[in-house]
Amino acid sequence: MARYTGPVCKLCRREGEKLFLKGERCFTPKCPMERRAYPPGEHGRYSGGRAGRQSDYSRQLRAKQKGKRIYGVLERQFRRYFSDARKRPGLTGFNLLQILESRLDNVVYRMGFADSRSQARQLVNHGHFKLNGRRNDIASTILKPGDQISVRENSKHNEYFKTLRAAEEVRTPPAWVEVDLNNLSGRMIRLPERAEIDGNLNEQLIVEYYSR
Ligand code: SF4
Repeated sequence: MARYTGPVCKLCRREGEKLFLKGERCFTPKCPMERRAYPPGEHGRYSGGRAGRQSDYSRQLRAKQKGKRIYGVLERQFRRYFSDARKRPGLTGFNLLQILESRLDNVVYRMGFADSRSQARQLVNHGHFKLNGRRNDIASTILKPGDQISVRENSKHNEYFKTLRAAEEVRTPPAWVEVDLNNLSGRMIRLPERAEIDGNLNEQLIVEYYSR
């Protein structure tokens, strides 16, 4: 699966806000948004006043780009998710967010098995997880309520997972997943509600972008 391989922090600077793409580092003073909170590029520093004069198209485009960047999805796949969201009953924008949240890499991240979605994707790609008892290394797999995730037996001896299991402080998972850290496993109980999806995303603007 293709993915963005360029500088990650540049994406936050382009969107003008922290997208929390790098795990722990995002919460330290090393985060470039703490020091250079202006768009990248030669004229980035001097373009501060542009936000107030954004066109509708520009706002829709930025919302769509932000969604793609937060979930680490490229254009073609994002567009496919949007078309799936349209076919589901209910609000298209909310459906889109639910699809993105149901990706295997996102659920692994939400369960606290990884610090960021990109780390979760790497752990999945390296074959450390089972989905419903079978090895699954496809980060874009869409989960359904009731699906079980577990770390494979061999991987449980891996230093990373040993440290994770022994960690004193763990991130509280959202209410739509349950986690058994001792057994390094978890279950998706249901789809998330809108209020349970953070990330400051305006899904309505994304719908407007693709409906032009
Ligand atoms: Fe974004 Fe995290 Fe990089 Fe800060 S450290 S710019 S929040 S990815």
